[in-house]
Amino acid sequence: MRMSKLYMPTLRETPSEAEIPSHKLLLRAGMMRKLVSGVYSYLPLGYRVIKKIENVVREEMDRAGSQELLMSAIQPRELWESSGRWENFGPEMFRLKDRNDREFCLGPTHEEYFTDLIKDEIKSYKQLPLNLYQIQTKYRDEKRPRFGVIRAREFIMKDAYSFDRDEEGMERSYKEMWEAYEKIFTRLKLKYKVVEGDSGAMGGNKSHEFMAMAETGEGVIAYCDKCDYAATDEKAKVVYEVKKTDEEEADMEKIYTPDVTTIDDLVEFFQADKEIFGKALVYLASGEPVVVVIPGDRELNETKLCNYLRIPEHELEMADEEIIMGISGAKKGFTGPVGLKEGTRLIVDSRITKMKNLIVGGNETDYHIKNVNYGRDFEGEIADDLLLVEEGDSCPNCGEALKLARGIEVGNIFQLGTKYSSSLNATYLDEDGKEKLFVMGSYGVGVSRTMAAIVEQYHDEYGIIWPLVVAPYHVIITIINAKNEEQRDLGEKIYEELLAEGLEVLLDDRNERAGVKFNDRDLIGIPIRITVGKKASENIVEYSLRKDGERIEIPVDQIMDRIKEAFKEEGLELK
Ligand code: ATP
Ligand code: MG
Repeated sequence: MRMSKLYMPTLRETPSEAEIPSHKLLLRAGMMRKLVSGVYSYLPLGYRVIKKIENVVREEMDRAGSQELLMSAIQPRELWESSGRWENFGPEMFRLKDRNDREFCLGPTHEEYFTDLIKDEIKSYKQLPLNLYQIQTKYRDEKRPRFGVIRAREFIMKDAYSFDRDEEGMERSYKEMWEAYEKIFTRLKLKYKVVEGDSGAMGGNKSHEFMAMAETGEGVIAYCDKCDYAATDEKAKVVYEVKKTDEEEADMEKIYTPDVTTIDDLVEFFQADKEIFGKALVYLASGEPVVVVIPGDRELNETKLCNYLRIPEHELEMADEEIIMGISGAKKGFTGPVGLKEGTRLIVDSRITKMKNLIVGGNETDYHIKNVNYGRDFEGEIADDLLLVEEGDSCPNCGEALKLARGIEVGNIFQLGTKYSSSLNATYLDEDGKEKLFVMGSYGVGVSRTMAAIVEQYHDEYGIIWPLVVAPYHVIITIINAKNEEQRDLGEKIYEELLAEGLEVLLDDRNERAGVKFNDRDLIGIPIRITVGKKASENIVEYSLRKDGERIEIPVDQIMDRIKEAFKEEGLELK
């Protein structure tokens, strides 16, 4: 491709809404453009990257025995009602009506659709297992679209669904997809970890997330260096030892604590350790107030709370002052488990039941209560573990201190079991002549998010550093002075030769200053660079790689050897 013709609208300034490197660079490099919040177009360079990622995904899915098809983004309401998700999916679902007032959604995912597609066609165990996938555009009206295509409202996903006879078969399909994902993300050169994921209030079964490591990632991973434990912070089980004490249960005592509302203020006021406080949080769960009490030195894990309450996350919100006043009779910051309004739902983290002489909010503005003990002074529902994991918590497997890291979820695999086959009544006839439910799995890769994740891991202050496998072009030839005939001719000649070798080549034949050309090639991140300058007359060019920048002069006839070497270094074969 000649850059004089290329549609590559680079930007000198970073658009103000872009916060993280991938978002900034993909916009600046003219790879994508925003239409409205969370909705992007992929421009020629960016779309080439997308297609390359898709192809890696496609090759590995095909190799794993999955078959590609393509389904509609538009799905009728009835399909989603059969699984109960028309209601449960909540505000993330884009909904629309046709001219006859029939309701539809723009598919945020396709479990129902795939199950419905195959259920009347697959009749016998002999046709199983079956694994189908598509690479398609998904729609989710995200609460906070951000970071460009990382959390978008329209994005490209590869979604696959497996159908098996039994649990054992599902486990096998799951493992095959896991291995396919390892191959995909390894080929895409991502540094990643596979972590235990939360399956949500509705999911039930096992799931794993493939997290591309990045400080800017929205996901937090707790992992152990000693054993192989790794889980998202939503999922990670918290091992929390309540300090042993032989203290006697003392009498409750109301203490005047004017304007002392936060844990830090309380620590200061009482001159006590954080863990002696019982922190009460007030939520609205599906519209009903609930008070949750956890140890004062810890944070609540809302995902665990939703799972305990068996509600989707969008049905949980913090309660406002009015609600708090209604159940506690006090201003925010003075809620506690003792003396709540009759009938208020109270949930305590199991650790609270083992703690002695707690200090808690007094349910009276400007008061706390000392020496509060579970069982004697209050009772509630006991939830085993509602805490958010912290760096240094003991590994639930081996006891070693856990570490925390950030990542971007690029893939997700789920064991669905019979959740969808039972609600959609999807059955096959088994060997024993009995009707049985399909046992399913679902497997997603965020294709467009993966593009951004790669940039998060591969960039520097000047721009993107694409790995060869996904680079929009393999090679860029920069003609320093396009008006100089010798330089132009040599550039053109090399261009033609490299194209003939099957390489993807950009020829910077623009009438621009060399500095502009160098900046652009750094920004768009083409891996292999050939600079044709003054020594064109001697058939000598400058050769360098975007990733290390070291420049060497080589005769033209050595270019191909160098390129082959660069491919080999990245584990690729040049055909
Ligand atoms: P998240 O926790 O980030 O919201 P999710 O659990 O909702 O992700 P899945 O439903 O498992 O995501 O979707 C499969 C894959 O699609 C994810 O692993 C992710 O890579 C990608 N994905 C999900 N939501 C978005 C989005 N809003 N924008 C871009 N990619 C997304
Ligand atoms: Mg989501």
